[in-house]
Amino acid sequence: MRSKLMLTLALVALVVVALACAPAPAPAPTAAPATAAPKPTEAPKQLKGELNLLCTPQQIWCEGMKKEFEAKYPGVTVNFVRLSSGESLTRLRNEKANPQFDIWWGGPIDSFIAAKKEGLLEPYKSPGHANIIDPKLMLDNDPNPQWVGIYVGSLGFATNTKQTAIKAPESLDDLIKPELKGQIVIAHPASSGTSYTFLCTVLQVKGEQAGWEYMKKFAANVLMWTKSGAAPAQNVGKGEAAVGVVFSHDIVAEMERGLPLKMTFPVEGTGYEIGGMGIVKGAKNMEIAKAWYDWALEAKTQELGKKYTAYQGLTIKGAQPPKPELLQVKLINYNFDYCGSNKKAFVDKFSNEIAAASLAK
Ligand code: PLP
Repeated sequence: MRSKLMLTLALVALVVVALACAPAPAPAPTAAPATAAPKPTEAPKQLKGELNLLCTPQQIWCEGMKKEFEAKYPGVTVNFVRLSSGESLTRLRNEKANPQFDIWWGGPIDSFIAAKKEGLLEPYKSPGHANIIDPKLMLDNDPNPQWVGIYVGSLGFATNTKQTAIKAPESLDDLIKPELKGQIVIAHPASSGTSYTFLCTVLQVKGEQAGWEYMKKFAANVLMWTKSGAAPAQNVGKGEAAVGVVFSHDIVAEMERGLPLKMTFPVEGTGYEIGGMGIVKGAKNMEIAKAWYDWALEAKTQELGKKYTAYQGLTIKGAQPPKPELLQVKLINYNFDYCGSNKKAFVDKFSNEIAAASLAK
């Protein structure tokens, strides 16, 4: 059963289509109530010290948010490292006994669900949780929540408009057509949350068995697996390949920078991400980590994204999404628990059975 969902994104509704083939369908995201303005925030506390930020979104946004937070808290220096989702998870896992980061900000929640399962996150009840548009979907449903959603983005296809031989794909099956052999760029799901969202979308839309068969055919068409999820939009824009699979807000950002790209979405529905945030278990700068967490859940903070060409949908009531149309597309009923809980197993299977063969070709 499928239906078209109109997400007005102050995220007004993530109403989705239940895919009959999804292995463990999640409850359909509920329509968010009419937006109410968040309570005015209190004057900032005087904080002093450092915050070690593990930042997964694009570099320009990480830099911007560092500056914005330091302007609000002049006594604080933010040190950040930009790492893709899978790399971040590995880093947190390796540093579990002696955490080097205080807070992890950005990247699809599948990885935060996986991190929680491994005991890598700290529970925190932020006052900002009260302003989440759809808490069932965008907040860890645990009495002691360990992650929260900070943005929403849909997967799209980017096609170079200067090449005329290849028609922009309009379905998952278009991506495995022989004419796309060696023409697709996508990140590797072991390093990238974007690419893992695509993998888990395929496994849900097709079902696991057919999904893995699909991924073998898809891999045969892939020219290059990048590290970072957003990079393929640039590769395609520069003419290095015809088609990239990327989050749609990344495609729009590259179009605005002048790259010749056309954006399309699969007719059967597309996967989407909720970008997450969580405090690292044992964070050494806990008070500042909590201040960042609370700040990131303010409508005004979320609206800063567009200043740094981050066009994701937003998760806080009253925050104005920069490009609501990016979520007015047919979304699948993406099951975050299923994808998060199986992340390690699916990535291992992909790496061992599919990418290894693809890289050897
Ligand atoms: N950059 C942007 C703009 C994103 O929207 C996301 C998704 O959360 C990421 C980066 C995640 O990066 P990666 O796919 O490299 O893990």
